[in-house]
Amino acid sequence: MNEKHYDAAIVGAGMSGLAAGIRLAQFDRNVCILEKHSVYGGLNSFYRRNGRNYDVGLHAMTNYVPKGTKGGPLSRIIRHLRMSWDEFGLVQQNGSSIAFPGVELNFTNDFERFETEVAEKFPEQIDGFRRMVAGLAGYDQLGMGAAGGSAREYVSGYISDPKLVDMIFCPLLYYGGAREQDMEFGQFCVMFRSIFLEGFARPFDGVRHILFKLVKRFKSLGGEIRLNAGVKEIVRNRSDEVDHIVLDNGEEIYAKRYLSSAGWPETMKLCGLESHVEERSIGKLGFVETISVLDKAPSRNGHDKTIVFFNDSDRFDYKNPSSLVDLRSGVVCVPGNFAYGKPFQDNMIRITALANYDLWRKLTPEEYRRQKLVQYEKTLESAARFVPDFRRHVIDVDMFTPLTIQRYTSRERGAIYGAADKRYDGLTPLRNLFICGADQGMVGIVGALVSGVVIANRYALSD
Ligand SMILES: Cc1cc2nc3c(=O)[nH]c(=O)nc-3n(C[C@H](O)[C@H](O)[C@H](O)COP(=O)(O)OP(=O)(O)OC[C@H]3O[C@@H](n4cnc5c(N)ncnc54)[C@H](O)[C@@H]3O)c2cc1C
Repeated sequence: MNEKHYDAAIVGAGMSGLAAGIRLAQFDRNVCILEKHSVYGGLNSFYRRNGRNYDVGLHAMTNYVPKGTKGGPLSRIIRHLRMSWDEFGLVQQNGSSIAFPGVELNFTNDFERFETEVAEKFPEQIDGFRRMVAGLAGYDQLGMGAAGGSAREYVSGYISDPKLVDMIFCPLLYYGGAREQDMEFGQFCVMFRSIFLEGFARPFDGVRHILFKLVKRFKSLGGEIRLNAGVKEIVRNRSDEVDHIVLDNGEEIYAKRYLSSAGWPETMKLCGLESHVEERSIGKLGFVETISVLDKAPSRNGHDKTIVFFNDSDRFDYKNPSSLVDLRSGVVCVPGNFAYGKPFQDNMIRITALANYDLWRKLTPEEYRRQKLVQYEKTLESAARFVPDFRRHVIDVDMFTPLTIQRYTSRERGAIYGAADKRYDGLTPLRNLFICGADQGMVGIVGALVSGVVIANRYALSD
């Protein structure tokens, strides 16, 4: 029998798995990352199609702070991974907005701009808004606990205009909401900080730039990364521990500690512990993403914003839609609209919208292909109400649905933000198995990197 022995084995080479791997390898642990897919990156990977480079997910990295800033998730990640700011190559956004009927709130990476916008457009709410923001300051961003309770209740305690409440929640839910309509207070603090108090940035070459650096660092420390190495089973022993892992090819992997970034329900199923998966906790929020390649830079068509979060009524309805795609709201992102200071070649516009996994899943293959075309058109038509209409400039198109995301990341229901109930302590019923990444409670690129480091520090470096 083919067997391998490690100090730590990590399921998944997404952001959290890579960060955990680097952290462990730094302390001379013999560590192996096992990735099912043929490419690393997970939910934020990359691909090439028709001669062009594409990112799977990247709109922007959140939590941007200028080089040398002390404190905050990004600087702590850079320090913990012993990398340099320059290696991340982050370039700030031009500016973004939240567009609801009759009102638009603009924001940049300078929080004062957002505050000024709120003061101008909702003058009667600004005092409450400032008090609400002040109340977020004490929350520990990198801790392992999370303050529960409804974030909406918290925000509504300070802001009485439901339209402003929904305008604040729209970007936060779109970029990190694992539950319908609301988020836990702790998650809200993390997301508010990551988007409004810190902000958006992007490397010139997209997410592959960050992934190449992470993988290079991991390998330079002696770490082993195996692609096309799907974990078929996590085998338990009688002492409530993982005994070993079995790969799809039958190979057995033994380790002292196991970390899984595959998600809570997914990991419990690999362990044969389905009884620990509550139906209500499985993530219900699916998305479509359209990518349009244009014949010219979107800025030359009057579109110079980096990200526009739009919603066509006063209330924002963040829930699993009853149609294939919810055309009432969405996120429009232009990867070229960051302050690169040099020409950006890929003239792309990405649009994200809520989508219903079950309805996509029920389609026959032929109807699925047809609906992708139909829904692509409808999604662009919907967005054209809020950003300059670019449809006549489209020269190439890609689109993915919740089924695409499920296929390439093995996330149940293609739920990008994972399970509705998070495992903040990272613990599982098995003593030497720990959860990191989206289902530990940290979403987004920076969140997943933080999670990998936190879980590795806490549980896999302790011996
Ligand atoms: C369309 C889209 C847009 C996004 N936009 C942004 C954005 O603009 N900014 C941002 O910060 N974040 C964005 N995100 C979210 C961000 O990508 C994720 O929150 C983050 O990458 C999650 O990392 P993770 O390590 O927790 O999980 P994952 O990336 O899901 O990593 C888990 C890995 O485990 C692997 N795996 C699963 N099962 C097995 C198995 N049985 N055996 C072996 N391997 C397995 C998967 O293939 C995957 O590679 C976006 C995501 C998507 C899909």
